[in-house]
Amino acid sequence: MGWWKAARSIPASILSFATSVFVRLVGAAALALLLATCAQPPSLLTQIKQLGVLRVVTRNSPTTFYFGSHGPTGFEYDLARLFAEDLGVRLEVYAPLSLTDVLDAVRDGYADIAAAGLSITRTREQHLRFGPPYQYVTQKVIYRYGEPRPDSPADLVGHGLMVLADSSHAARLEVLQEQYPKLKWTASDAVESEELLAQVAHADLDYTVADSNEFALDRRYYPELRAAFDLKPPEPIAWAFRRTDDLSLYNAAVAFFSRIRADGKLAQIVERYYGASDDFDYVGTRTFIHDIKTLLPDYQPWFQDAAENTGIDWRLLAAIGYQESHWDPHAVSPTGVRGVMMLTLGTAGDLGIENRINPEQSILGGAQYFSLMKARIPDEVHEPDRTWMALAAYNVGIGHIFDAREITRERGGNPNRWIDVRASLPLLTEKKWYSQTKYGYARGEQPLIYVANIRSYYSILNWITSQPKSTTDETGTVTASSE
Ligand code: GLU
Repeated sequence: MGWWKAARSIPASILSFATSVFVRLVGAAALALLLATCAQPPSLLTQIKQLGVLRVVTRNSPTTFYFGSHGPTGFEYDLARLFAEDLGVRLEVYAPLSLTDVLDAVRDGYADIAAAGLSITRTREQHLRFGPPYQYVTQKVIYRYGEPRPDSPADLVGHGLMVLADSSHAARLEVLQEQYPKLKWTASDAVESEELLAQVAHADLDYTVADSNEFALDRRYYPELRAAFDLKPPEPIAWAFRRTDDLSLYNAAVAFFSRIRADGKLAQIVERYYGASDDFDYVGTRTFIHDIKTLLPDYQPWFQDAAENTGIDWRLLAAIGYQESHWDPHAVSPTGVRGVMMLTLGTAGDLGIENRINPEQSILGGAQYFSLMKARIPDEVHEPDRTWMALAAYNVGIGHIFDAREITRERGGNPNRWIDVRASLPLLTEKKWYSQTKYGYARGEQPLIYVANIRSYYSILNWITSQPKSTTDETGTVTASSE
């Protein structure tokens, strides 16, 4: 069961979607009364602004929306929240249990927008209007490592193949069936895409189809999964609107996307969710998950104590510790750094750490050192970029981060964004650049891999340690507001 399933258990304080529909209906009635004498009904956008709520229907998945350790999160959620902020209204998110329900909700006007990693398909375009694409994905056939790798749709014939009902994957299989009449599959609306991946990983199902973005995130948790081949060329992902003559909300979304594309916010959100998945060592994941079970329990209380001492999430500290030493208190590097958090003798001395080999002391020292790095990152750098820059500083030294920020500024980038600073760090290996900086040469590639790995470890730990907070509501659906 995926960690976002915790989303099915919602705090009572969160507004329910039904309430919103009620509010919308009452609001609509009031508006109707108010406008009885007016010729033109207000546009959808005006209604949304007057009622102060944007209703977004989504899916509960790692690429869309889920409850993380700090509350509602997810790529689509962040995008929708930004749009609601832009409109000056509250966001209300509703995640029904199937893709069919997502599509119906927006088609029937129960939601203003469907933001659910939806592919633009011809069938859908008959009753939905798609906004500007913000991602391109490929449909990947997924199999389990160790099983024969299928090379074409013909190889899927005679095997168990399951996809989501009403998905773009099911639509594609229908087209392929004309060419491969023996191709058979099950289309289910009782599972989420991650559950299909889990079934393949656990050898309960031969094959499934997943969007490339989803696979990129989920394979961290299921390292035995492999992509066999693409079912079709890349296809666009976009928000879906109801297909009516009222284009007010749609036009506002078009303007919103062109703005966030131009000012780099879209790239920042993409980086936030997918930035760590590019260079990740998937084979290493298996060992990591094993080490979480076997080694972490011994160290977790110390990470938690250090978290209490510094206010840094213990899971992030544990992720740093894993990247540094694989939680080995006797780890030692050729440069003389030692212990779980790999402190130098000088740093340990500055922090008053007497014995770097002692895991408790090392963890506390590492946490304090990381806090210091965080505090030294300038105030204008906000989360999560602040954490990523502090991690890079932990690895390469804060002076080089200051230098990379300078270079970023010089190159016209934004020194407050990790995505831009990250691009400048490798320049610290080039004389042309490092000769102009205060702290000189640095192995600028190294912190990139370091930060990316820690982010992946952190996200796996979040997944494994997330627990449902209460019980499922009686409809089995999730609602949340951004407030
Ligand atoms: N892009 C897919 C669709 O539109 C989403 C479903 C999935 O990721 O499984 O159907």
